[in-house]
Amino acid sequence: MNKNIKLYIDMDGCLAKWNTDASIEETFEPGYFAGLEPEESLIDAVKMLAQEYDVSILSAVYQDNHSAGDKISWLKKNGLGFLDTIFVPYGESKQKYINHDYTSILIDDYSKNLEEWVLTSNCYGIKFLNGINSTKGQWTGFMIPGKMNSQALYKTIRGIVSEIVAA
Ligand SMILES: [Mg+2]
Repeated sequence: MNKNIKLYIDMDGCLAKWNTDASIEETFEPGYFAGLEPEESLIDAVKMLAQEYDVSILSAVYQDNHSAGDKISWLKKNGLGFLDTIFVPYGESKQKYINHDYTSILIDDYSKNLEEWVLTSNCYGIKFLNGINSTKGQWTGFMIPGKMNSQALYKTIRGIVSEIVAA
């Protein structure tokens, strides 16, 4: 286990597929986040990465009485209940919720989150291309195509981590 590195993984649009058919109102409904379709290849890659690295879930949640619980249910249902989980109130920087004593690598589908993330030294971002988010936005850092299988995702993320550590 590499103790100097922490990997943080976003849920919506990464581990959990973004439901483009859902209205904003539907996302507020109890159970919505528990029922999202899993991105199986990334989930399997994260399970493999968790054997070597300290991996945490880092996900934004609505400040209601059920969304965090729904996300915990989803993680358990999809075999990721063993990971540390950090929930960030929607709209707040994910940076504010982590321990800065480590090299911190965030995998996220949202460029704004990644841009905020890399403003702090020792923080690195990897954009997960889920087929819905833009590939021509402002993010010019590391990217991983979500279409890869779990082995390829695992190897690619591992390669990026090695590159970051070696730099
Ligand atoms: Mg996301």
